[in-house]
Amino acid sequence: MRPSFLPRPVNGPFDDPGLFIPLFFERRAIIFDLGDIYSLSAKDILKISHIFITHTHMDHFIGFDRLLRLFLGRDQHLYLFGPKGFLNNVEGKLAGYSWNLVKNYSNLLALHVTEVLPDHLITKDYICQNGFVPDQTSLKQPFNGLLHEEPSFSVSARILDHSLPCLGFTLKERFHVNILKDGVTKLGLEVGPWLKDFKQALFDNQDPDSKFEVSCGKTNQQKKTFVLGDLTKQIALITPGQKISYIADLVYNESNVEKVVELVKDSDHLFIEASFLEKDRDVAEKKCHLTARQAGIIAGMSGVKQVTPFHFSPRYVGQAHLLEKEVIAAYDEALRR
Ligand SMILES: [Zn+2]
Ligand SMILES: [Zn+2]
Repeated sequence: MRPSFLPRPVNGPFDDPGLFIPLFFERRAIIFDLGDIYSLSAKDILKISHIFITHTHMDHFIGFDRLLRLFLGRDQHLYLFGPKGFLNNVEGKLAGYSWNLVKNYSNLLALHVTEVLPDHLITKDYICQNGFVPDQTSLKQPFNGLLHEEPSFSVSARILDHSLPCLGFTLKERFHVNILKDGVTKLGLEVGPWLKDFKQALFDNQDPDSKFEVSCGKTNQQKKTFVLGDLTKQIALITPGQKISYIADLVYNESNVEKVVELVKDSDHLFIEASFLEKDRDVAEKKCHLTARQAGIIAGMSGVKQVTPFHFSPRYVGQAHLLEKEVIAAYDEALRR
């Protein structure tokens, strides 16, 4: 199975948090957290359309300036999501610069910023040509856990406690379309860009009895027409969609554990902060972070298939293996329970 999403931590486990997720088959990506993103290429940053921020501690949000700097003057809609206070944080960042010349820009750069509150979402738009002056109007919508949805995937969040409201995220592919290359060859076709349209037709719930045209041949001049349902049976295997979760910065308490387990249950891959070793649990508690053992327990209780700890405290530089070992031991233990 070729996964649709290949999540990539932006930095090493001792550096600022951030998870870059390119969307396979599209020149687009989403990102969880915006710490220092200088290790991402400009080309990769410019693929980002949706930005999900757990909380605005500096190490999770300082990359906003770099991102904005690159998008300035471009034709792009950026969608940002963050916890309580997020609209103020974004407005504060934008107010830190002078925008007197942007009215001359011909491209439209728009930020659509959503603040996540327990019962509702508040969205405001900020337009570059208007000098990012906050919109007087805002859109209020009920919040039921879902932040963003498109035909092929969705992103959900829960509000966690990190001595301030902090969001945990999960990305869920609706279903996964595996292309059977033998099936493609048997029909005299070749793997190509048409497969993107084929997958899109499935995600758009197109009628299986409808016609689907494939452009093939060396110059894509030849057209072959199939019945979508028949073609699907011959070239595709539909399996459950991928689930990727990202949990950063939280206190270890009953309510947080319950919410995280419910959100990330059965993830294919969980990225979770594990700042301290269990022997330093008192420090972890004071700083409102997890220990590696606690992160491993949460991963095991959630039955995730793979766990990657990150956000290690600098006090353990050179000892990353100890944190990783502690996570895996606790994960195995909780999984067996
Ligand atoms: Zn942090
Ligand atoms: Zn934090």
